[in-house]
Amino acid sequence: MTASEHDDPEGLAEVVQMIAQAKRIVVLTGAGISTDSGLPDFRGPNGLWTKNPEAEKASNINNYVNEPDVRSLNWKLRADGKLWANVAPNDGHRALLPLQASGQLHTLITQNVDELHQMSGIDADKVVEIHGTTRKAGCLSCDYLTTMDAVLERVRNGEDDPSCPDCGGIMKSATISFGQALVAEDLTRAQQAADEADLLIAIGSSLTVNPIASVVPRAVRGGANLIIVNAQETPFDMIANAVVRGSISEVLPKLIP
Ligand SMILES: [Zn+2]
Repeated sequence: MTASEHDDPEGLAEVVQMIAQAKRIVVLTGAGISTDSGLPDFRGPNGLWTKNPEAEKASNINNYVNEPDVRSLNWKLRADGKLWANVAPNDGHRALLPLQASGQLHTLITQNVDELHQMSGIDADKVVEIHGTTRKAGCLSCDYLTTMDAVLERVRNGEDDPSCPDCGGIMKSATISFGQALVAEDLTRAQQAADEADLLIAIGSSLTVNPIASVVPRAVRGGANLIIVNAQETPFDMIANAVVRGSISEVLPKLIP
């Protein structure tokens, strides 16, 4: 099959068939699958960082570690519900559930830190959170890890910059910030999944953030088919069996009936 673009749902039959026939599907998701859940926009005209440039500093590990004001602003925004309000899974997340029910889902690698896949019903054991999760918080100096809610409770009770109860270290959401290395075992797991896949479906990711984007050509080299579902072009459209544009929450349920 040659790479083809599908703008109309009527042309999706061959993509539906490719998914139906796959036995070990690895799904890689990015921000695009969570857009319809109303996650805050960071860099748009009304984006959180556009309106509040100081808040962006928290996304860089050096600023976060060295500037207490950056940390306290970040905790305050979280405690006020301005970073992650009450977001819920959307039809795009739910569209993947049949792949789990049928036993076809090998691994779900996500660049998202929102846990919406798990909240939609995907087994946590199937998910590799390559950039961590914002629903947990940990100490930068020791292994202490707790729920984000537990830390935000401390913030609401008056602590500007809650420290680790075990060692006094700096606490941070359990996400990979700019300047921080990925968790090696997560990357290894993602790469092994790509090697074992017979189909990789990349959904809502620009596929430009390395090293995780490299699992896409890796899977293809290993013999997997590749389907890309994304609103914009990606660097790997050329090697995909099929590229599907359009709203993810609308198109995914049609691909996985
Ligand atoms: Zn600690």
